[in-house]
Amino acid sequence: MMGDAMRVYDTLVLGAGGGGYPAAFRLARHGQQVLMVDEKGNLGGHCLYEGCIPSKAIRESARLLARSQHTATYGLAYAVTSARPWEGARAYKEQVQTRRYAQHAEEVAAARGLTLVRGRGRFLDPHTAEITDINRGEQFTVRFRYALVATGSHAVTLPIPGGADTWTSHDLFAWQEAVDGLPARLIVIGGGYIGVEAAFMLAAFGVRVTVLEATPGVLPQMDPEIAAALTPPLRAVADVRTGARVTAIRRRGGGVAVTLAGTAGEETLEADAVLTAVGRAPNVEPELGLEAAGVAFDRHGIRVDSALRTSMPHIFAAGDVTGLSMLFHSAVRMSEVAAANILADPALADTFDPLTMPATVFASPEAHTVGLTLAQATARNLRAHEIRRPMGVEARAQIEEETEGFIKMVVEDDTGVILGVHAVGADAANLAAVSHILVQNRLTVADVARLTFPHPTQFEVIDRLARQRD
Ligand code: NAD
Repeated sequence: MMGDAMRVYDTLVLGAGGGGYPAAFRLARHGQQVLMVDEKGNLGGHCLYEGCIPSKAIRESARLLARSQHTATYGLAYAVTSARPWEGARAYKEQVQTRRYAQHAEEVAAARGLTLVRGRGRFLDPHTAEITDINRGEQFTVRFRYALVATGSHAVTLPIPGGADTWTSHDLFAWQEAVDGLPARLIVIGGGYIGVEAAFMLAAFGVRVTVLEATPGVLPQMDPEIAAALTPPLRAVADVRTGARVTAIRRRGGGVAVTLAGTAGEETLEADAVLTAVGRAPNVEPELGLEAAGVAFDRHGIRVDSALRTSMPHIFAAGDVTGLSMLFHSAVRMSEVAAANILADPALADTFDPLTMPATVFASPEAHTVGLTLAQATARNLRAHEIRRPMGVEARAQIEEETEGFIKMVVEDDTGVILGVHAVGADAANLAAVSHILVQNRLTVADVARLTFPHPTQFEVIDRLARQRD
């Protein structure tokens, strides 16, 4: 297979992030010869390089820092003092990333039947691709029976004057590239997941943050009541302007002037830096050769069916590049579904449902959303109602001194099936795992009422909510 002869693989995987590597390993375990290609030369994609992992490592330092200012609440009397807390936190995140990269390198080395090339792949036709190997400085051509496209997404910037000249999450979190110091004043454009999480964590490091959100409220992707509950805590750490559309960004002196069209007319705000967090776009650039492969796509991503098959039945796509659910765990699930269907064993056949994917906001307090909101259920002609319970009545929330927030379930009237779970408050990100199990398995309130979660954990709020009306 080597040398001048064209190399032949069972499956070619483009991208070694959450959409790529779970499938690559699974297919290799099933005896396939798999070639996986990724520019980073390691696993984890953007999540590990500049996304979830570094941002949550920094958030951990930020949380400790914020909590340490209130130690008297817990009967202690000290505060963490650190001359350069951001630099310390950045060093910690590099440590976490480095550890995971080392672990992933070991996993790749131990995998039989899997070859990882640091490079880029480009389809030449539906069964052939050209691979550029960055480490060896060479190009070669491969044939494949199946392919999985998992090339991820990139942060978009605004098409306005100066729009491209701002930070994105890459500048804050990228491995060995994150910014050295933090600005005194930061304007965050976009009050979605990244904007809100960044505001909480950077405020903890002493940055004066302003969040500009175009829609009438922050986190428009979440259940409206959850987003509303997170707004006062966000306003406590940042200046939040909603209905604010940025029209221009200009360098002024050592800083930046941001012009926005708000409800009260045009206004210019000054800051030392601007972070754009207005969403991500799928990586479907022409250099991928999707057209040559016959794979249909548009700016929203590669079109796939629920089996994650593209318009070419032997080519699959998973992760952010599909635009279906831009979350790492969704990518992993999609990757597993694609692998199952590539294996073409009827016993393994699987489908992906973006609706049951849990989404979390690592703010203070945390929040999660899984499944349908009441409005979405009604729009689907489902008759449903909500049941709710305050988070603060549970022992765990009281021990943690984090008593704000609530959890609610969207329940189908006739069946009692739980269509959605939405929560804000203590440990809400972890609670998302249980909510996912309830929604994915279409459990009823009566089913959940018979469950018992350990005491004293915040999970108790779930079974107690289900028993509330017994
Ligand atoms: P997002 O889509 O979550 O939010 C973007 C926000 O920007 C929206 O609220 C939108 O209304 C606003 N916006 C758009 N144009 C604007 C403009 N011109 N001016 C002001 N506001 C504008 O995107 P994101 O926060 O950049 O996150 C990117 C992706 O990363 C998302 O798909 C998200 O799912 C994922 N992510 C997830 C988590 C998590 O699950 N905890 C955390 C971070 C990021």
